[in-house]
This record gives sequence, structure tokens and C-alpha cells, in this order.
Amino acid sequence: MAKCVMVLYPDPVDGYPSKYARDNIPVIQRYPDGSTVPTPSNIDFTPGHLLGCVSGALGLRKLFEDAGHQLVVTSDKDGSDSEFERELVDAHIVISQPFWPAYLTKERIAKAPNLRLALTAGIGSDHVDLEAAKKHGITVVEVTYSNSISVAEHAVMQILNLVRNFVPSHRWSTEGGWNIADCVERAYDLEGMDVGVIAAGRIGRAVLRRLAPFDVNLHYTDTHRLPLQVEKELNVTFHAGVESLVRSVDVVSIHSPLYEATRQMFNERLLGTMRRGSYIVNTARGEETVPEAIAAALRSGQLAGYAGDVWYPQPPPVEHPWRTMPNNAMTPHVSGTTLSAQARYAAGTREILESWFAAKPILQEYLIVEGGQLAGTGALSYQK
Ligand code: NDP
Repeated sequence: MAKCVMVLYPDPVDGYPSKYARDNIPVIQRYPDGSTVPTPSNIDFTPGHLLGCVSGALGLRKLFEDAGHQLVVTSDKDGSDSEFERELVDAHIVISQPFWPAYLTKERIAKAPNLRLALTAGIGSDHVDLEAAKKHGITVVEVTYSNSISVAEHAVMQILNLVRNFVPSHRWSTEGGWNIADCVERAYDLEGMDVGVIAAGRIGRAVLRRLAPFDVNLHYTDTHRLPLQVEKELNVTFHAGVESLVRSVDVVSIHSPLYEATRQMFNERLLGTMRRGSYIVNTARGEETVPEAIAAALRSGQLAGYAGDVWYPQPPPVEHPWRTMPNNAMTPHVSGTTLSAQARYAAGTREILESWFAAKPILQEYLIVEGGQLAGTGALSYQK
């Protein structure tokens, strides 16, 4: 019998939904690269229902019960007296989502001698100390591609949101005003602007594709260059480094994984090299920036706007500078956990568990760490 601790975000404040805004979600069969979406042997949930919260349990309760495994589902994840830390000591599997990350630090890993599998229901396993996972023989996996398009849509929305000054304009309308001048004194068209993405992986490429019809000048940087044919098709300019990219654009969208090379990349120095009045959208990871430097750049006008959904830590404290800095359009970490995305990553989580319980190999694209080293997608994403 295996013990699994699943750390999920709390249910809605009004309780688990009894009905939804829509009756169904579109059926997506393939990802943009042609690969199929997750194909577990079965699912025990209704696609389009809320799965990522404690009561939703990723639709996996029955799978664990039928197989006689122990499942603990909790949202209580921080601090040494949290339910997560108490239950971790004899757990074999931990499942967590980046939106409400169960931080698997080296100290916590040292307290969990039975731990063999750390599964991210979503993408981005930087909440796991990968070095400690390697050392302790823990396999780390995530559901690659499951929510890439969800995040790309959010990034495009937030770019438009900032440039067109949506949030303050919406506020004027809900507060009973009709203050056109107040709404438009910071509003621009995106058309004709220089827009750059940092990392043209699954999400970054999808952002480039979605922005191309806006008649903007596209730029990107990445550790590897896109095929020439794709560069031509999107009419996108390659930059060898972040410095060159940020100097050349009005809008930056960040899509790089978090590791040593990208940690605190957007610091005071780099922000100072950007065009005055630049916009940054960050749906990658909060720690790729220095939060105080972002807030200061917004206050000075060096940045015209900052939006995104990723913070550190998560949830952030009430006094986090990003909650109150000017001209921000932040949301909690939601871009990758739409009801549409949840159906895919819940199915992918089940697919991984089915392989794990049957002692079958896990798909290479889901692997981050295996056998004491970076593997699969992890070997591509988390090293220079
Ligand atoms: P991919 O692995 O498809 O793409 C990552 C890309 O980043 C690769 O092309 C890689 O290059 C490139 N890269 C790595 N290091 C650097 C660097 N130092 N500078 C520039 N580029 C670099 O990942 P995804 O697109 O699926 O996801 C990207 C990130 O987005 C995730 O790591 C995660 O942190 C975040 N994310 C956020 C979500 C949210 O809900 N907000 C949900 C999902 C993901 P190459 O492989 O060519 O070397």
C-alpha cells in the first residue's frame, strides 16, 4: 500500500460548486506540436468541473480507494505544524500544484525517507528542491503541455490589459463614473509596438503565434534558436540575450523556467536598461524578478505597467509590495488552472500514477528528475 499526500488549494469560500457557468468544455485531442493530450485508462471526473481544490481531489479519490492506497488531501501546507509536514514523514507520493505549491525543501525531503514520487499537477517543478530530489532518489514529474495554452492566453490578455489600461477603466464603470479622460490618459494601441518573449518554449511560442495577427514587431530570446522557417513565418527577431531583448522592446512577456540562470533576472540594473514606459507580463515565476525593484520601477515611471500571476511565496503575505504597487494588473496564480486546464492535468496526473503503480516507464516528456539526475523535459528546461 502506498501513501499519497495531495496538497491542493482550498475550496471556494462559498463551498464546492453545485453548478457551473458553462455545461461543457471543448474537447481538445492534440497539443499544437501534434502530440496527444493525456490518455489515462479511465477518468472518474467530469471535464469542466472544479478538480484542483481539496474537494475536487483531482478526480483521483476513487483510483486510490479502489487500489487500497491511502490518500490524504489537504491545503494546510506551510510551517512545521502543517498537516502536509505531519503527513509527509511516511508518504511515498506527494502531489502538488504550482498554484498552491507544497514547497519540498531539502529539510522536508530529509524528513520523508519513503518519498519516491513528487508529482506536479501542472507545469514547473521549482517548488521541489531538485538537487535534494536527485540525492534521495525521488522521481520528479509534471504534466508537460497540459496548461501551456491556458497560460499563453492569460499572458496575451494581460499584455492587452496593461497597454489599453483596462483595470482602471473597468473600475470607473463599476464605480458609477464615465471618466473617459481618466481612462485613456494611459491607454495605447498594441499595434506597431515591439513585443518580446523571454524563452520561446511551449508557452512562449504560443504567445508569439497569438500576437502575430496584432501587427506588432515580434522579438524573442532563448537558449536555442527557433527553426528559421518558424522565425520567418512569425517574422520574429532573435536576440542572443535578455539584455539585447529588453532594450529593443516596449513589452516583455516572461516564459523561462526558474533556475540559477533566471533567478532575480529582472533586477534594478536590467530594469534600468529598458525603454522608459515598458510593460512586463510575468506568468513564469515570481522569483525571476526582484519584487521591490519592480515596485520601484513602477513608482518612478520606468515601467508603465506590470502584470502576471506568479508570486513568491505563494500565497504571498498581505503586505507583499505587488498588492499595492501602481499600474499593476496582477492576479493570484490562476492562468494555468482554468477548468479547461484542470481536466487535462488531472488526466495527466492519473496517467502518470497508472504508469507508476504498474511499474511502467513514465513518458519522457513528463520527467524532470529520475534515477538521481535531470531527465526528459527536466534535462532540457533546468540546465544551461
Ligand atoms: P518549455 O520547457 O516548453 O519551455 C521553456 C523554454 O525556456 C525552453 O525553450 C528553454 O530553452 C528556455 N530557456 C531555458 N533557460 C532559459 C534562459 N536562461 N533564457 C532563455 N530561455 C531559456 O516550458 P513551458 O513553455 O511549458 O513553461 C515555461 C515556464 O512557464 C515553466 O517553467 C513554468 O515556470 C511556467 N509556467 C507557469 C504556469 C502558470 O500557471 N503561470 C503554468 C505552466 C508553466 P531550450 O529548451 O531551447 O534550451
